[in-house]
Amino acid sequence: MRPTGAALTAGVIGQPIAHSLSPLMMSAWIEAAGINAVYTPYIATPHMFAPVVSALFRAGLKGLNVTLPHKTDALMIANRISDAADKIGAANLLTSVDGEIHADNTDAYGFISSLRKAGVEPAGRSVLVLGAGGASRAVTYGLLDAGASDVAIANRSLDKAREIARDLAPNSEILSWDDRSRLLGEVDIVVNATSLGLKGQIPLEMDWSQAGENLVAVDTVYTPLETRFLADARARGLLGIDGLGMLIEQGKPSFQAFFGCAAPEQADIRLLLVQALESHE
Ligand code: NDP
Repeated sequence: MRPTGAALTAGVIGQPIAHSLSPLMMSAWIEAAGINAVYTPYIATPHMFAPVVSALFRAGLKGLNVTLPHKTDALMIANRISDAADKIGAANLLTSVDGEIHADNTDAYGFISSLRKAGVEPAGRSVLVLGAGGASRAVTYGLLDAGASDVAIANRSLDKAREIARDLAPNSEILSWDDRSRLLGEVDIVVNATSLGLKGQIPLEMDWSQAGENLVAVDTVYTPLETRFLADARARGLLGIDGLGMLIEQGKPSFQAFFGCAAPEQADIRLLLVQALESHE
């Protein structure tokens, strides 16, 4: 249906924002759900983030997805912070509730849900997480919350990996970057949560020779969809899961929070996003 003056409004805020797939995804869900709603992109510098959010919420916006570089600042302006956002140290969802701002993080949920949609249950599994930035924090939190038996972290900067272990996973093994392939024969799942492999970045190279035949390789990167990390894993016959599922799944709880109904299980949402990614290439 076409929006009227009574439309529910929500959006995504970041800088840059033009590349964001969220408006396309949310608008497709709005259309499929047949609700009177609008989802809009907003750009804001770090300096303008708090006043823009405040003005939008005072103008009636139900909520905002938050992307780079504001995910940490989103916690600072919230009146209430969910356990996930607090532990991860970042929020990607702000909602306006009775004049208060509530902060949540749906990236961890999105990651776990994308694994389950691909038929991989993380409970009881041992996992190697590569990277120690924001994505790694969400992935590590999600894995332990979902019952992963243990999480090892490999990162270029060891102090950042130790920080995650201290905050989220006290018993985890920390590996140096050069040692990142050492556990491939022991773990059930390996996750690329670095920015390596992202368009314009160098690829992530692993020594797959020790990998067990049931190892699952998961990439959080989705531009491109087929990273070198995934291509190499698949070439060895391993199951590879790209980062687009995480993006789609993290959007679902946001849609529910903004518009009060579930995102329709629309089969062609992935296809729509793949086409958008291809048209940006
Ligand atoms: P950060 O900048 O916070 O972290 C980047 C990570 O990559 C760090 O661990 C960094 O190591 C590592 N890294 C960068 N360059 C190199 C290099 N040359 N060699 C080794 N390690 C390197 O980014 P985020 O954690 O926020 O995002 C990481 C990726 O996650 C993004 O590129 C994005 O594609 C993906 N992502 C996907 C989502 C989805 O929905 N699918 C959601 C959020 C993120 P160091 O600490 O040493 O600097």
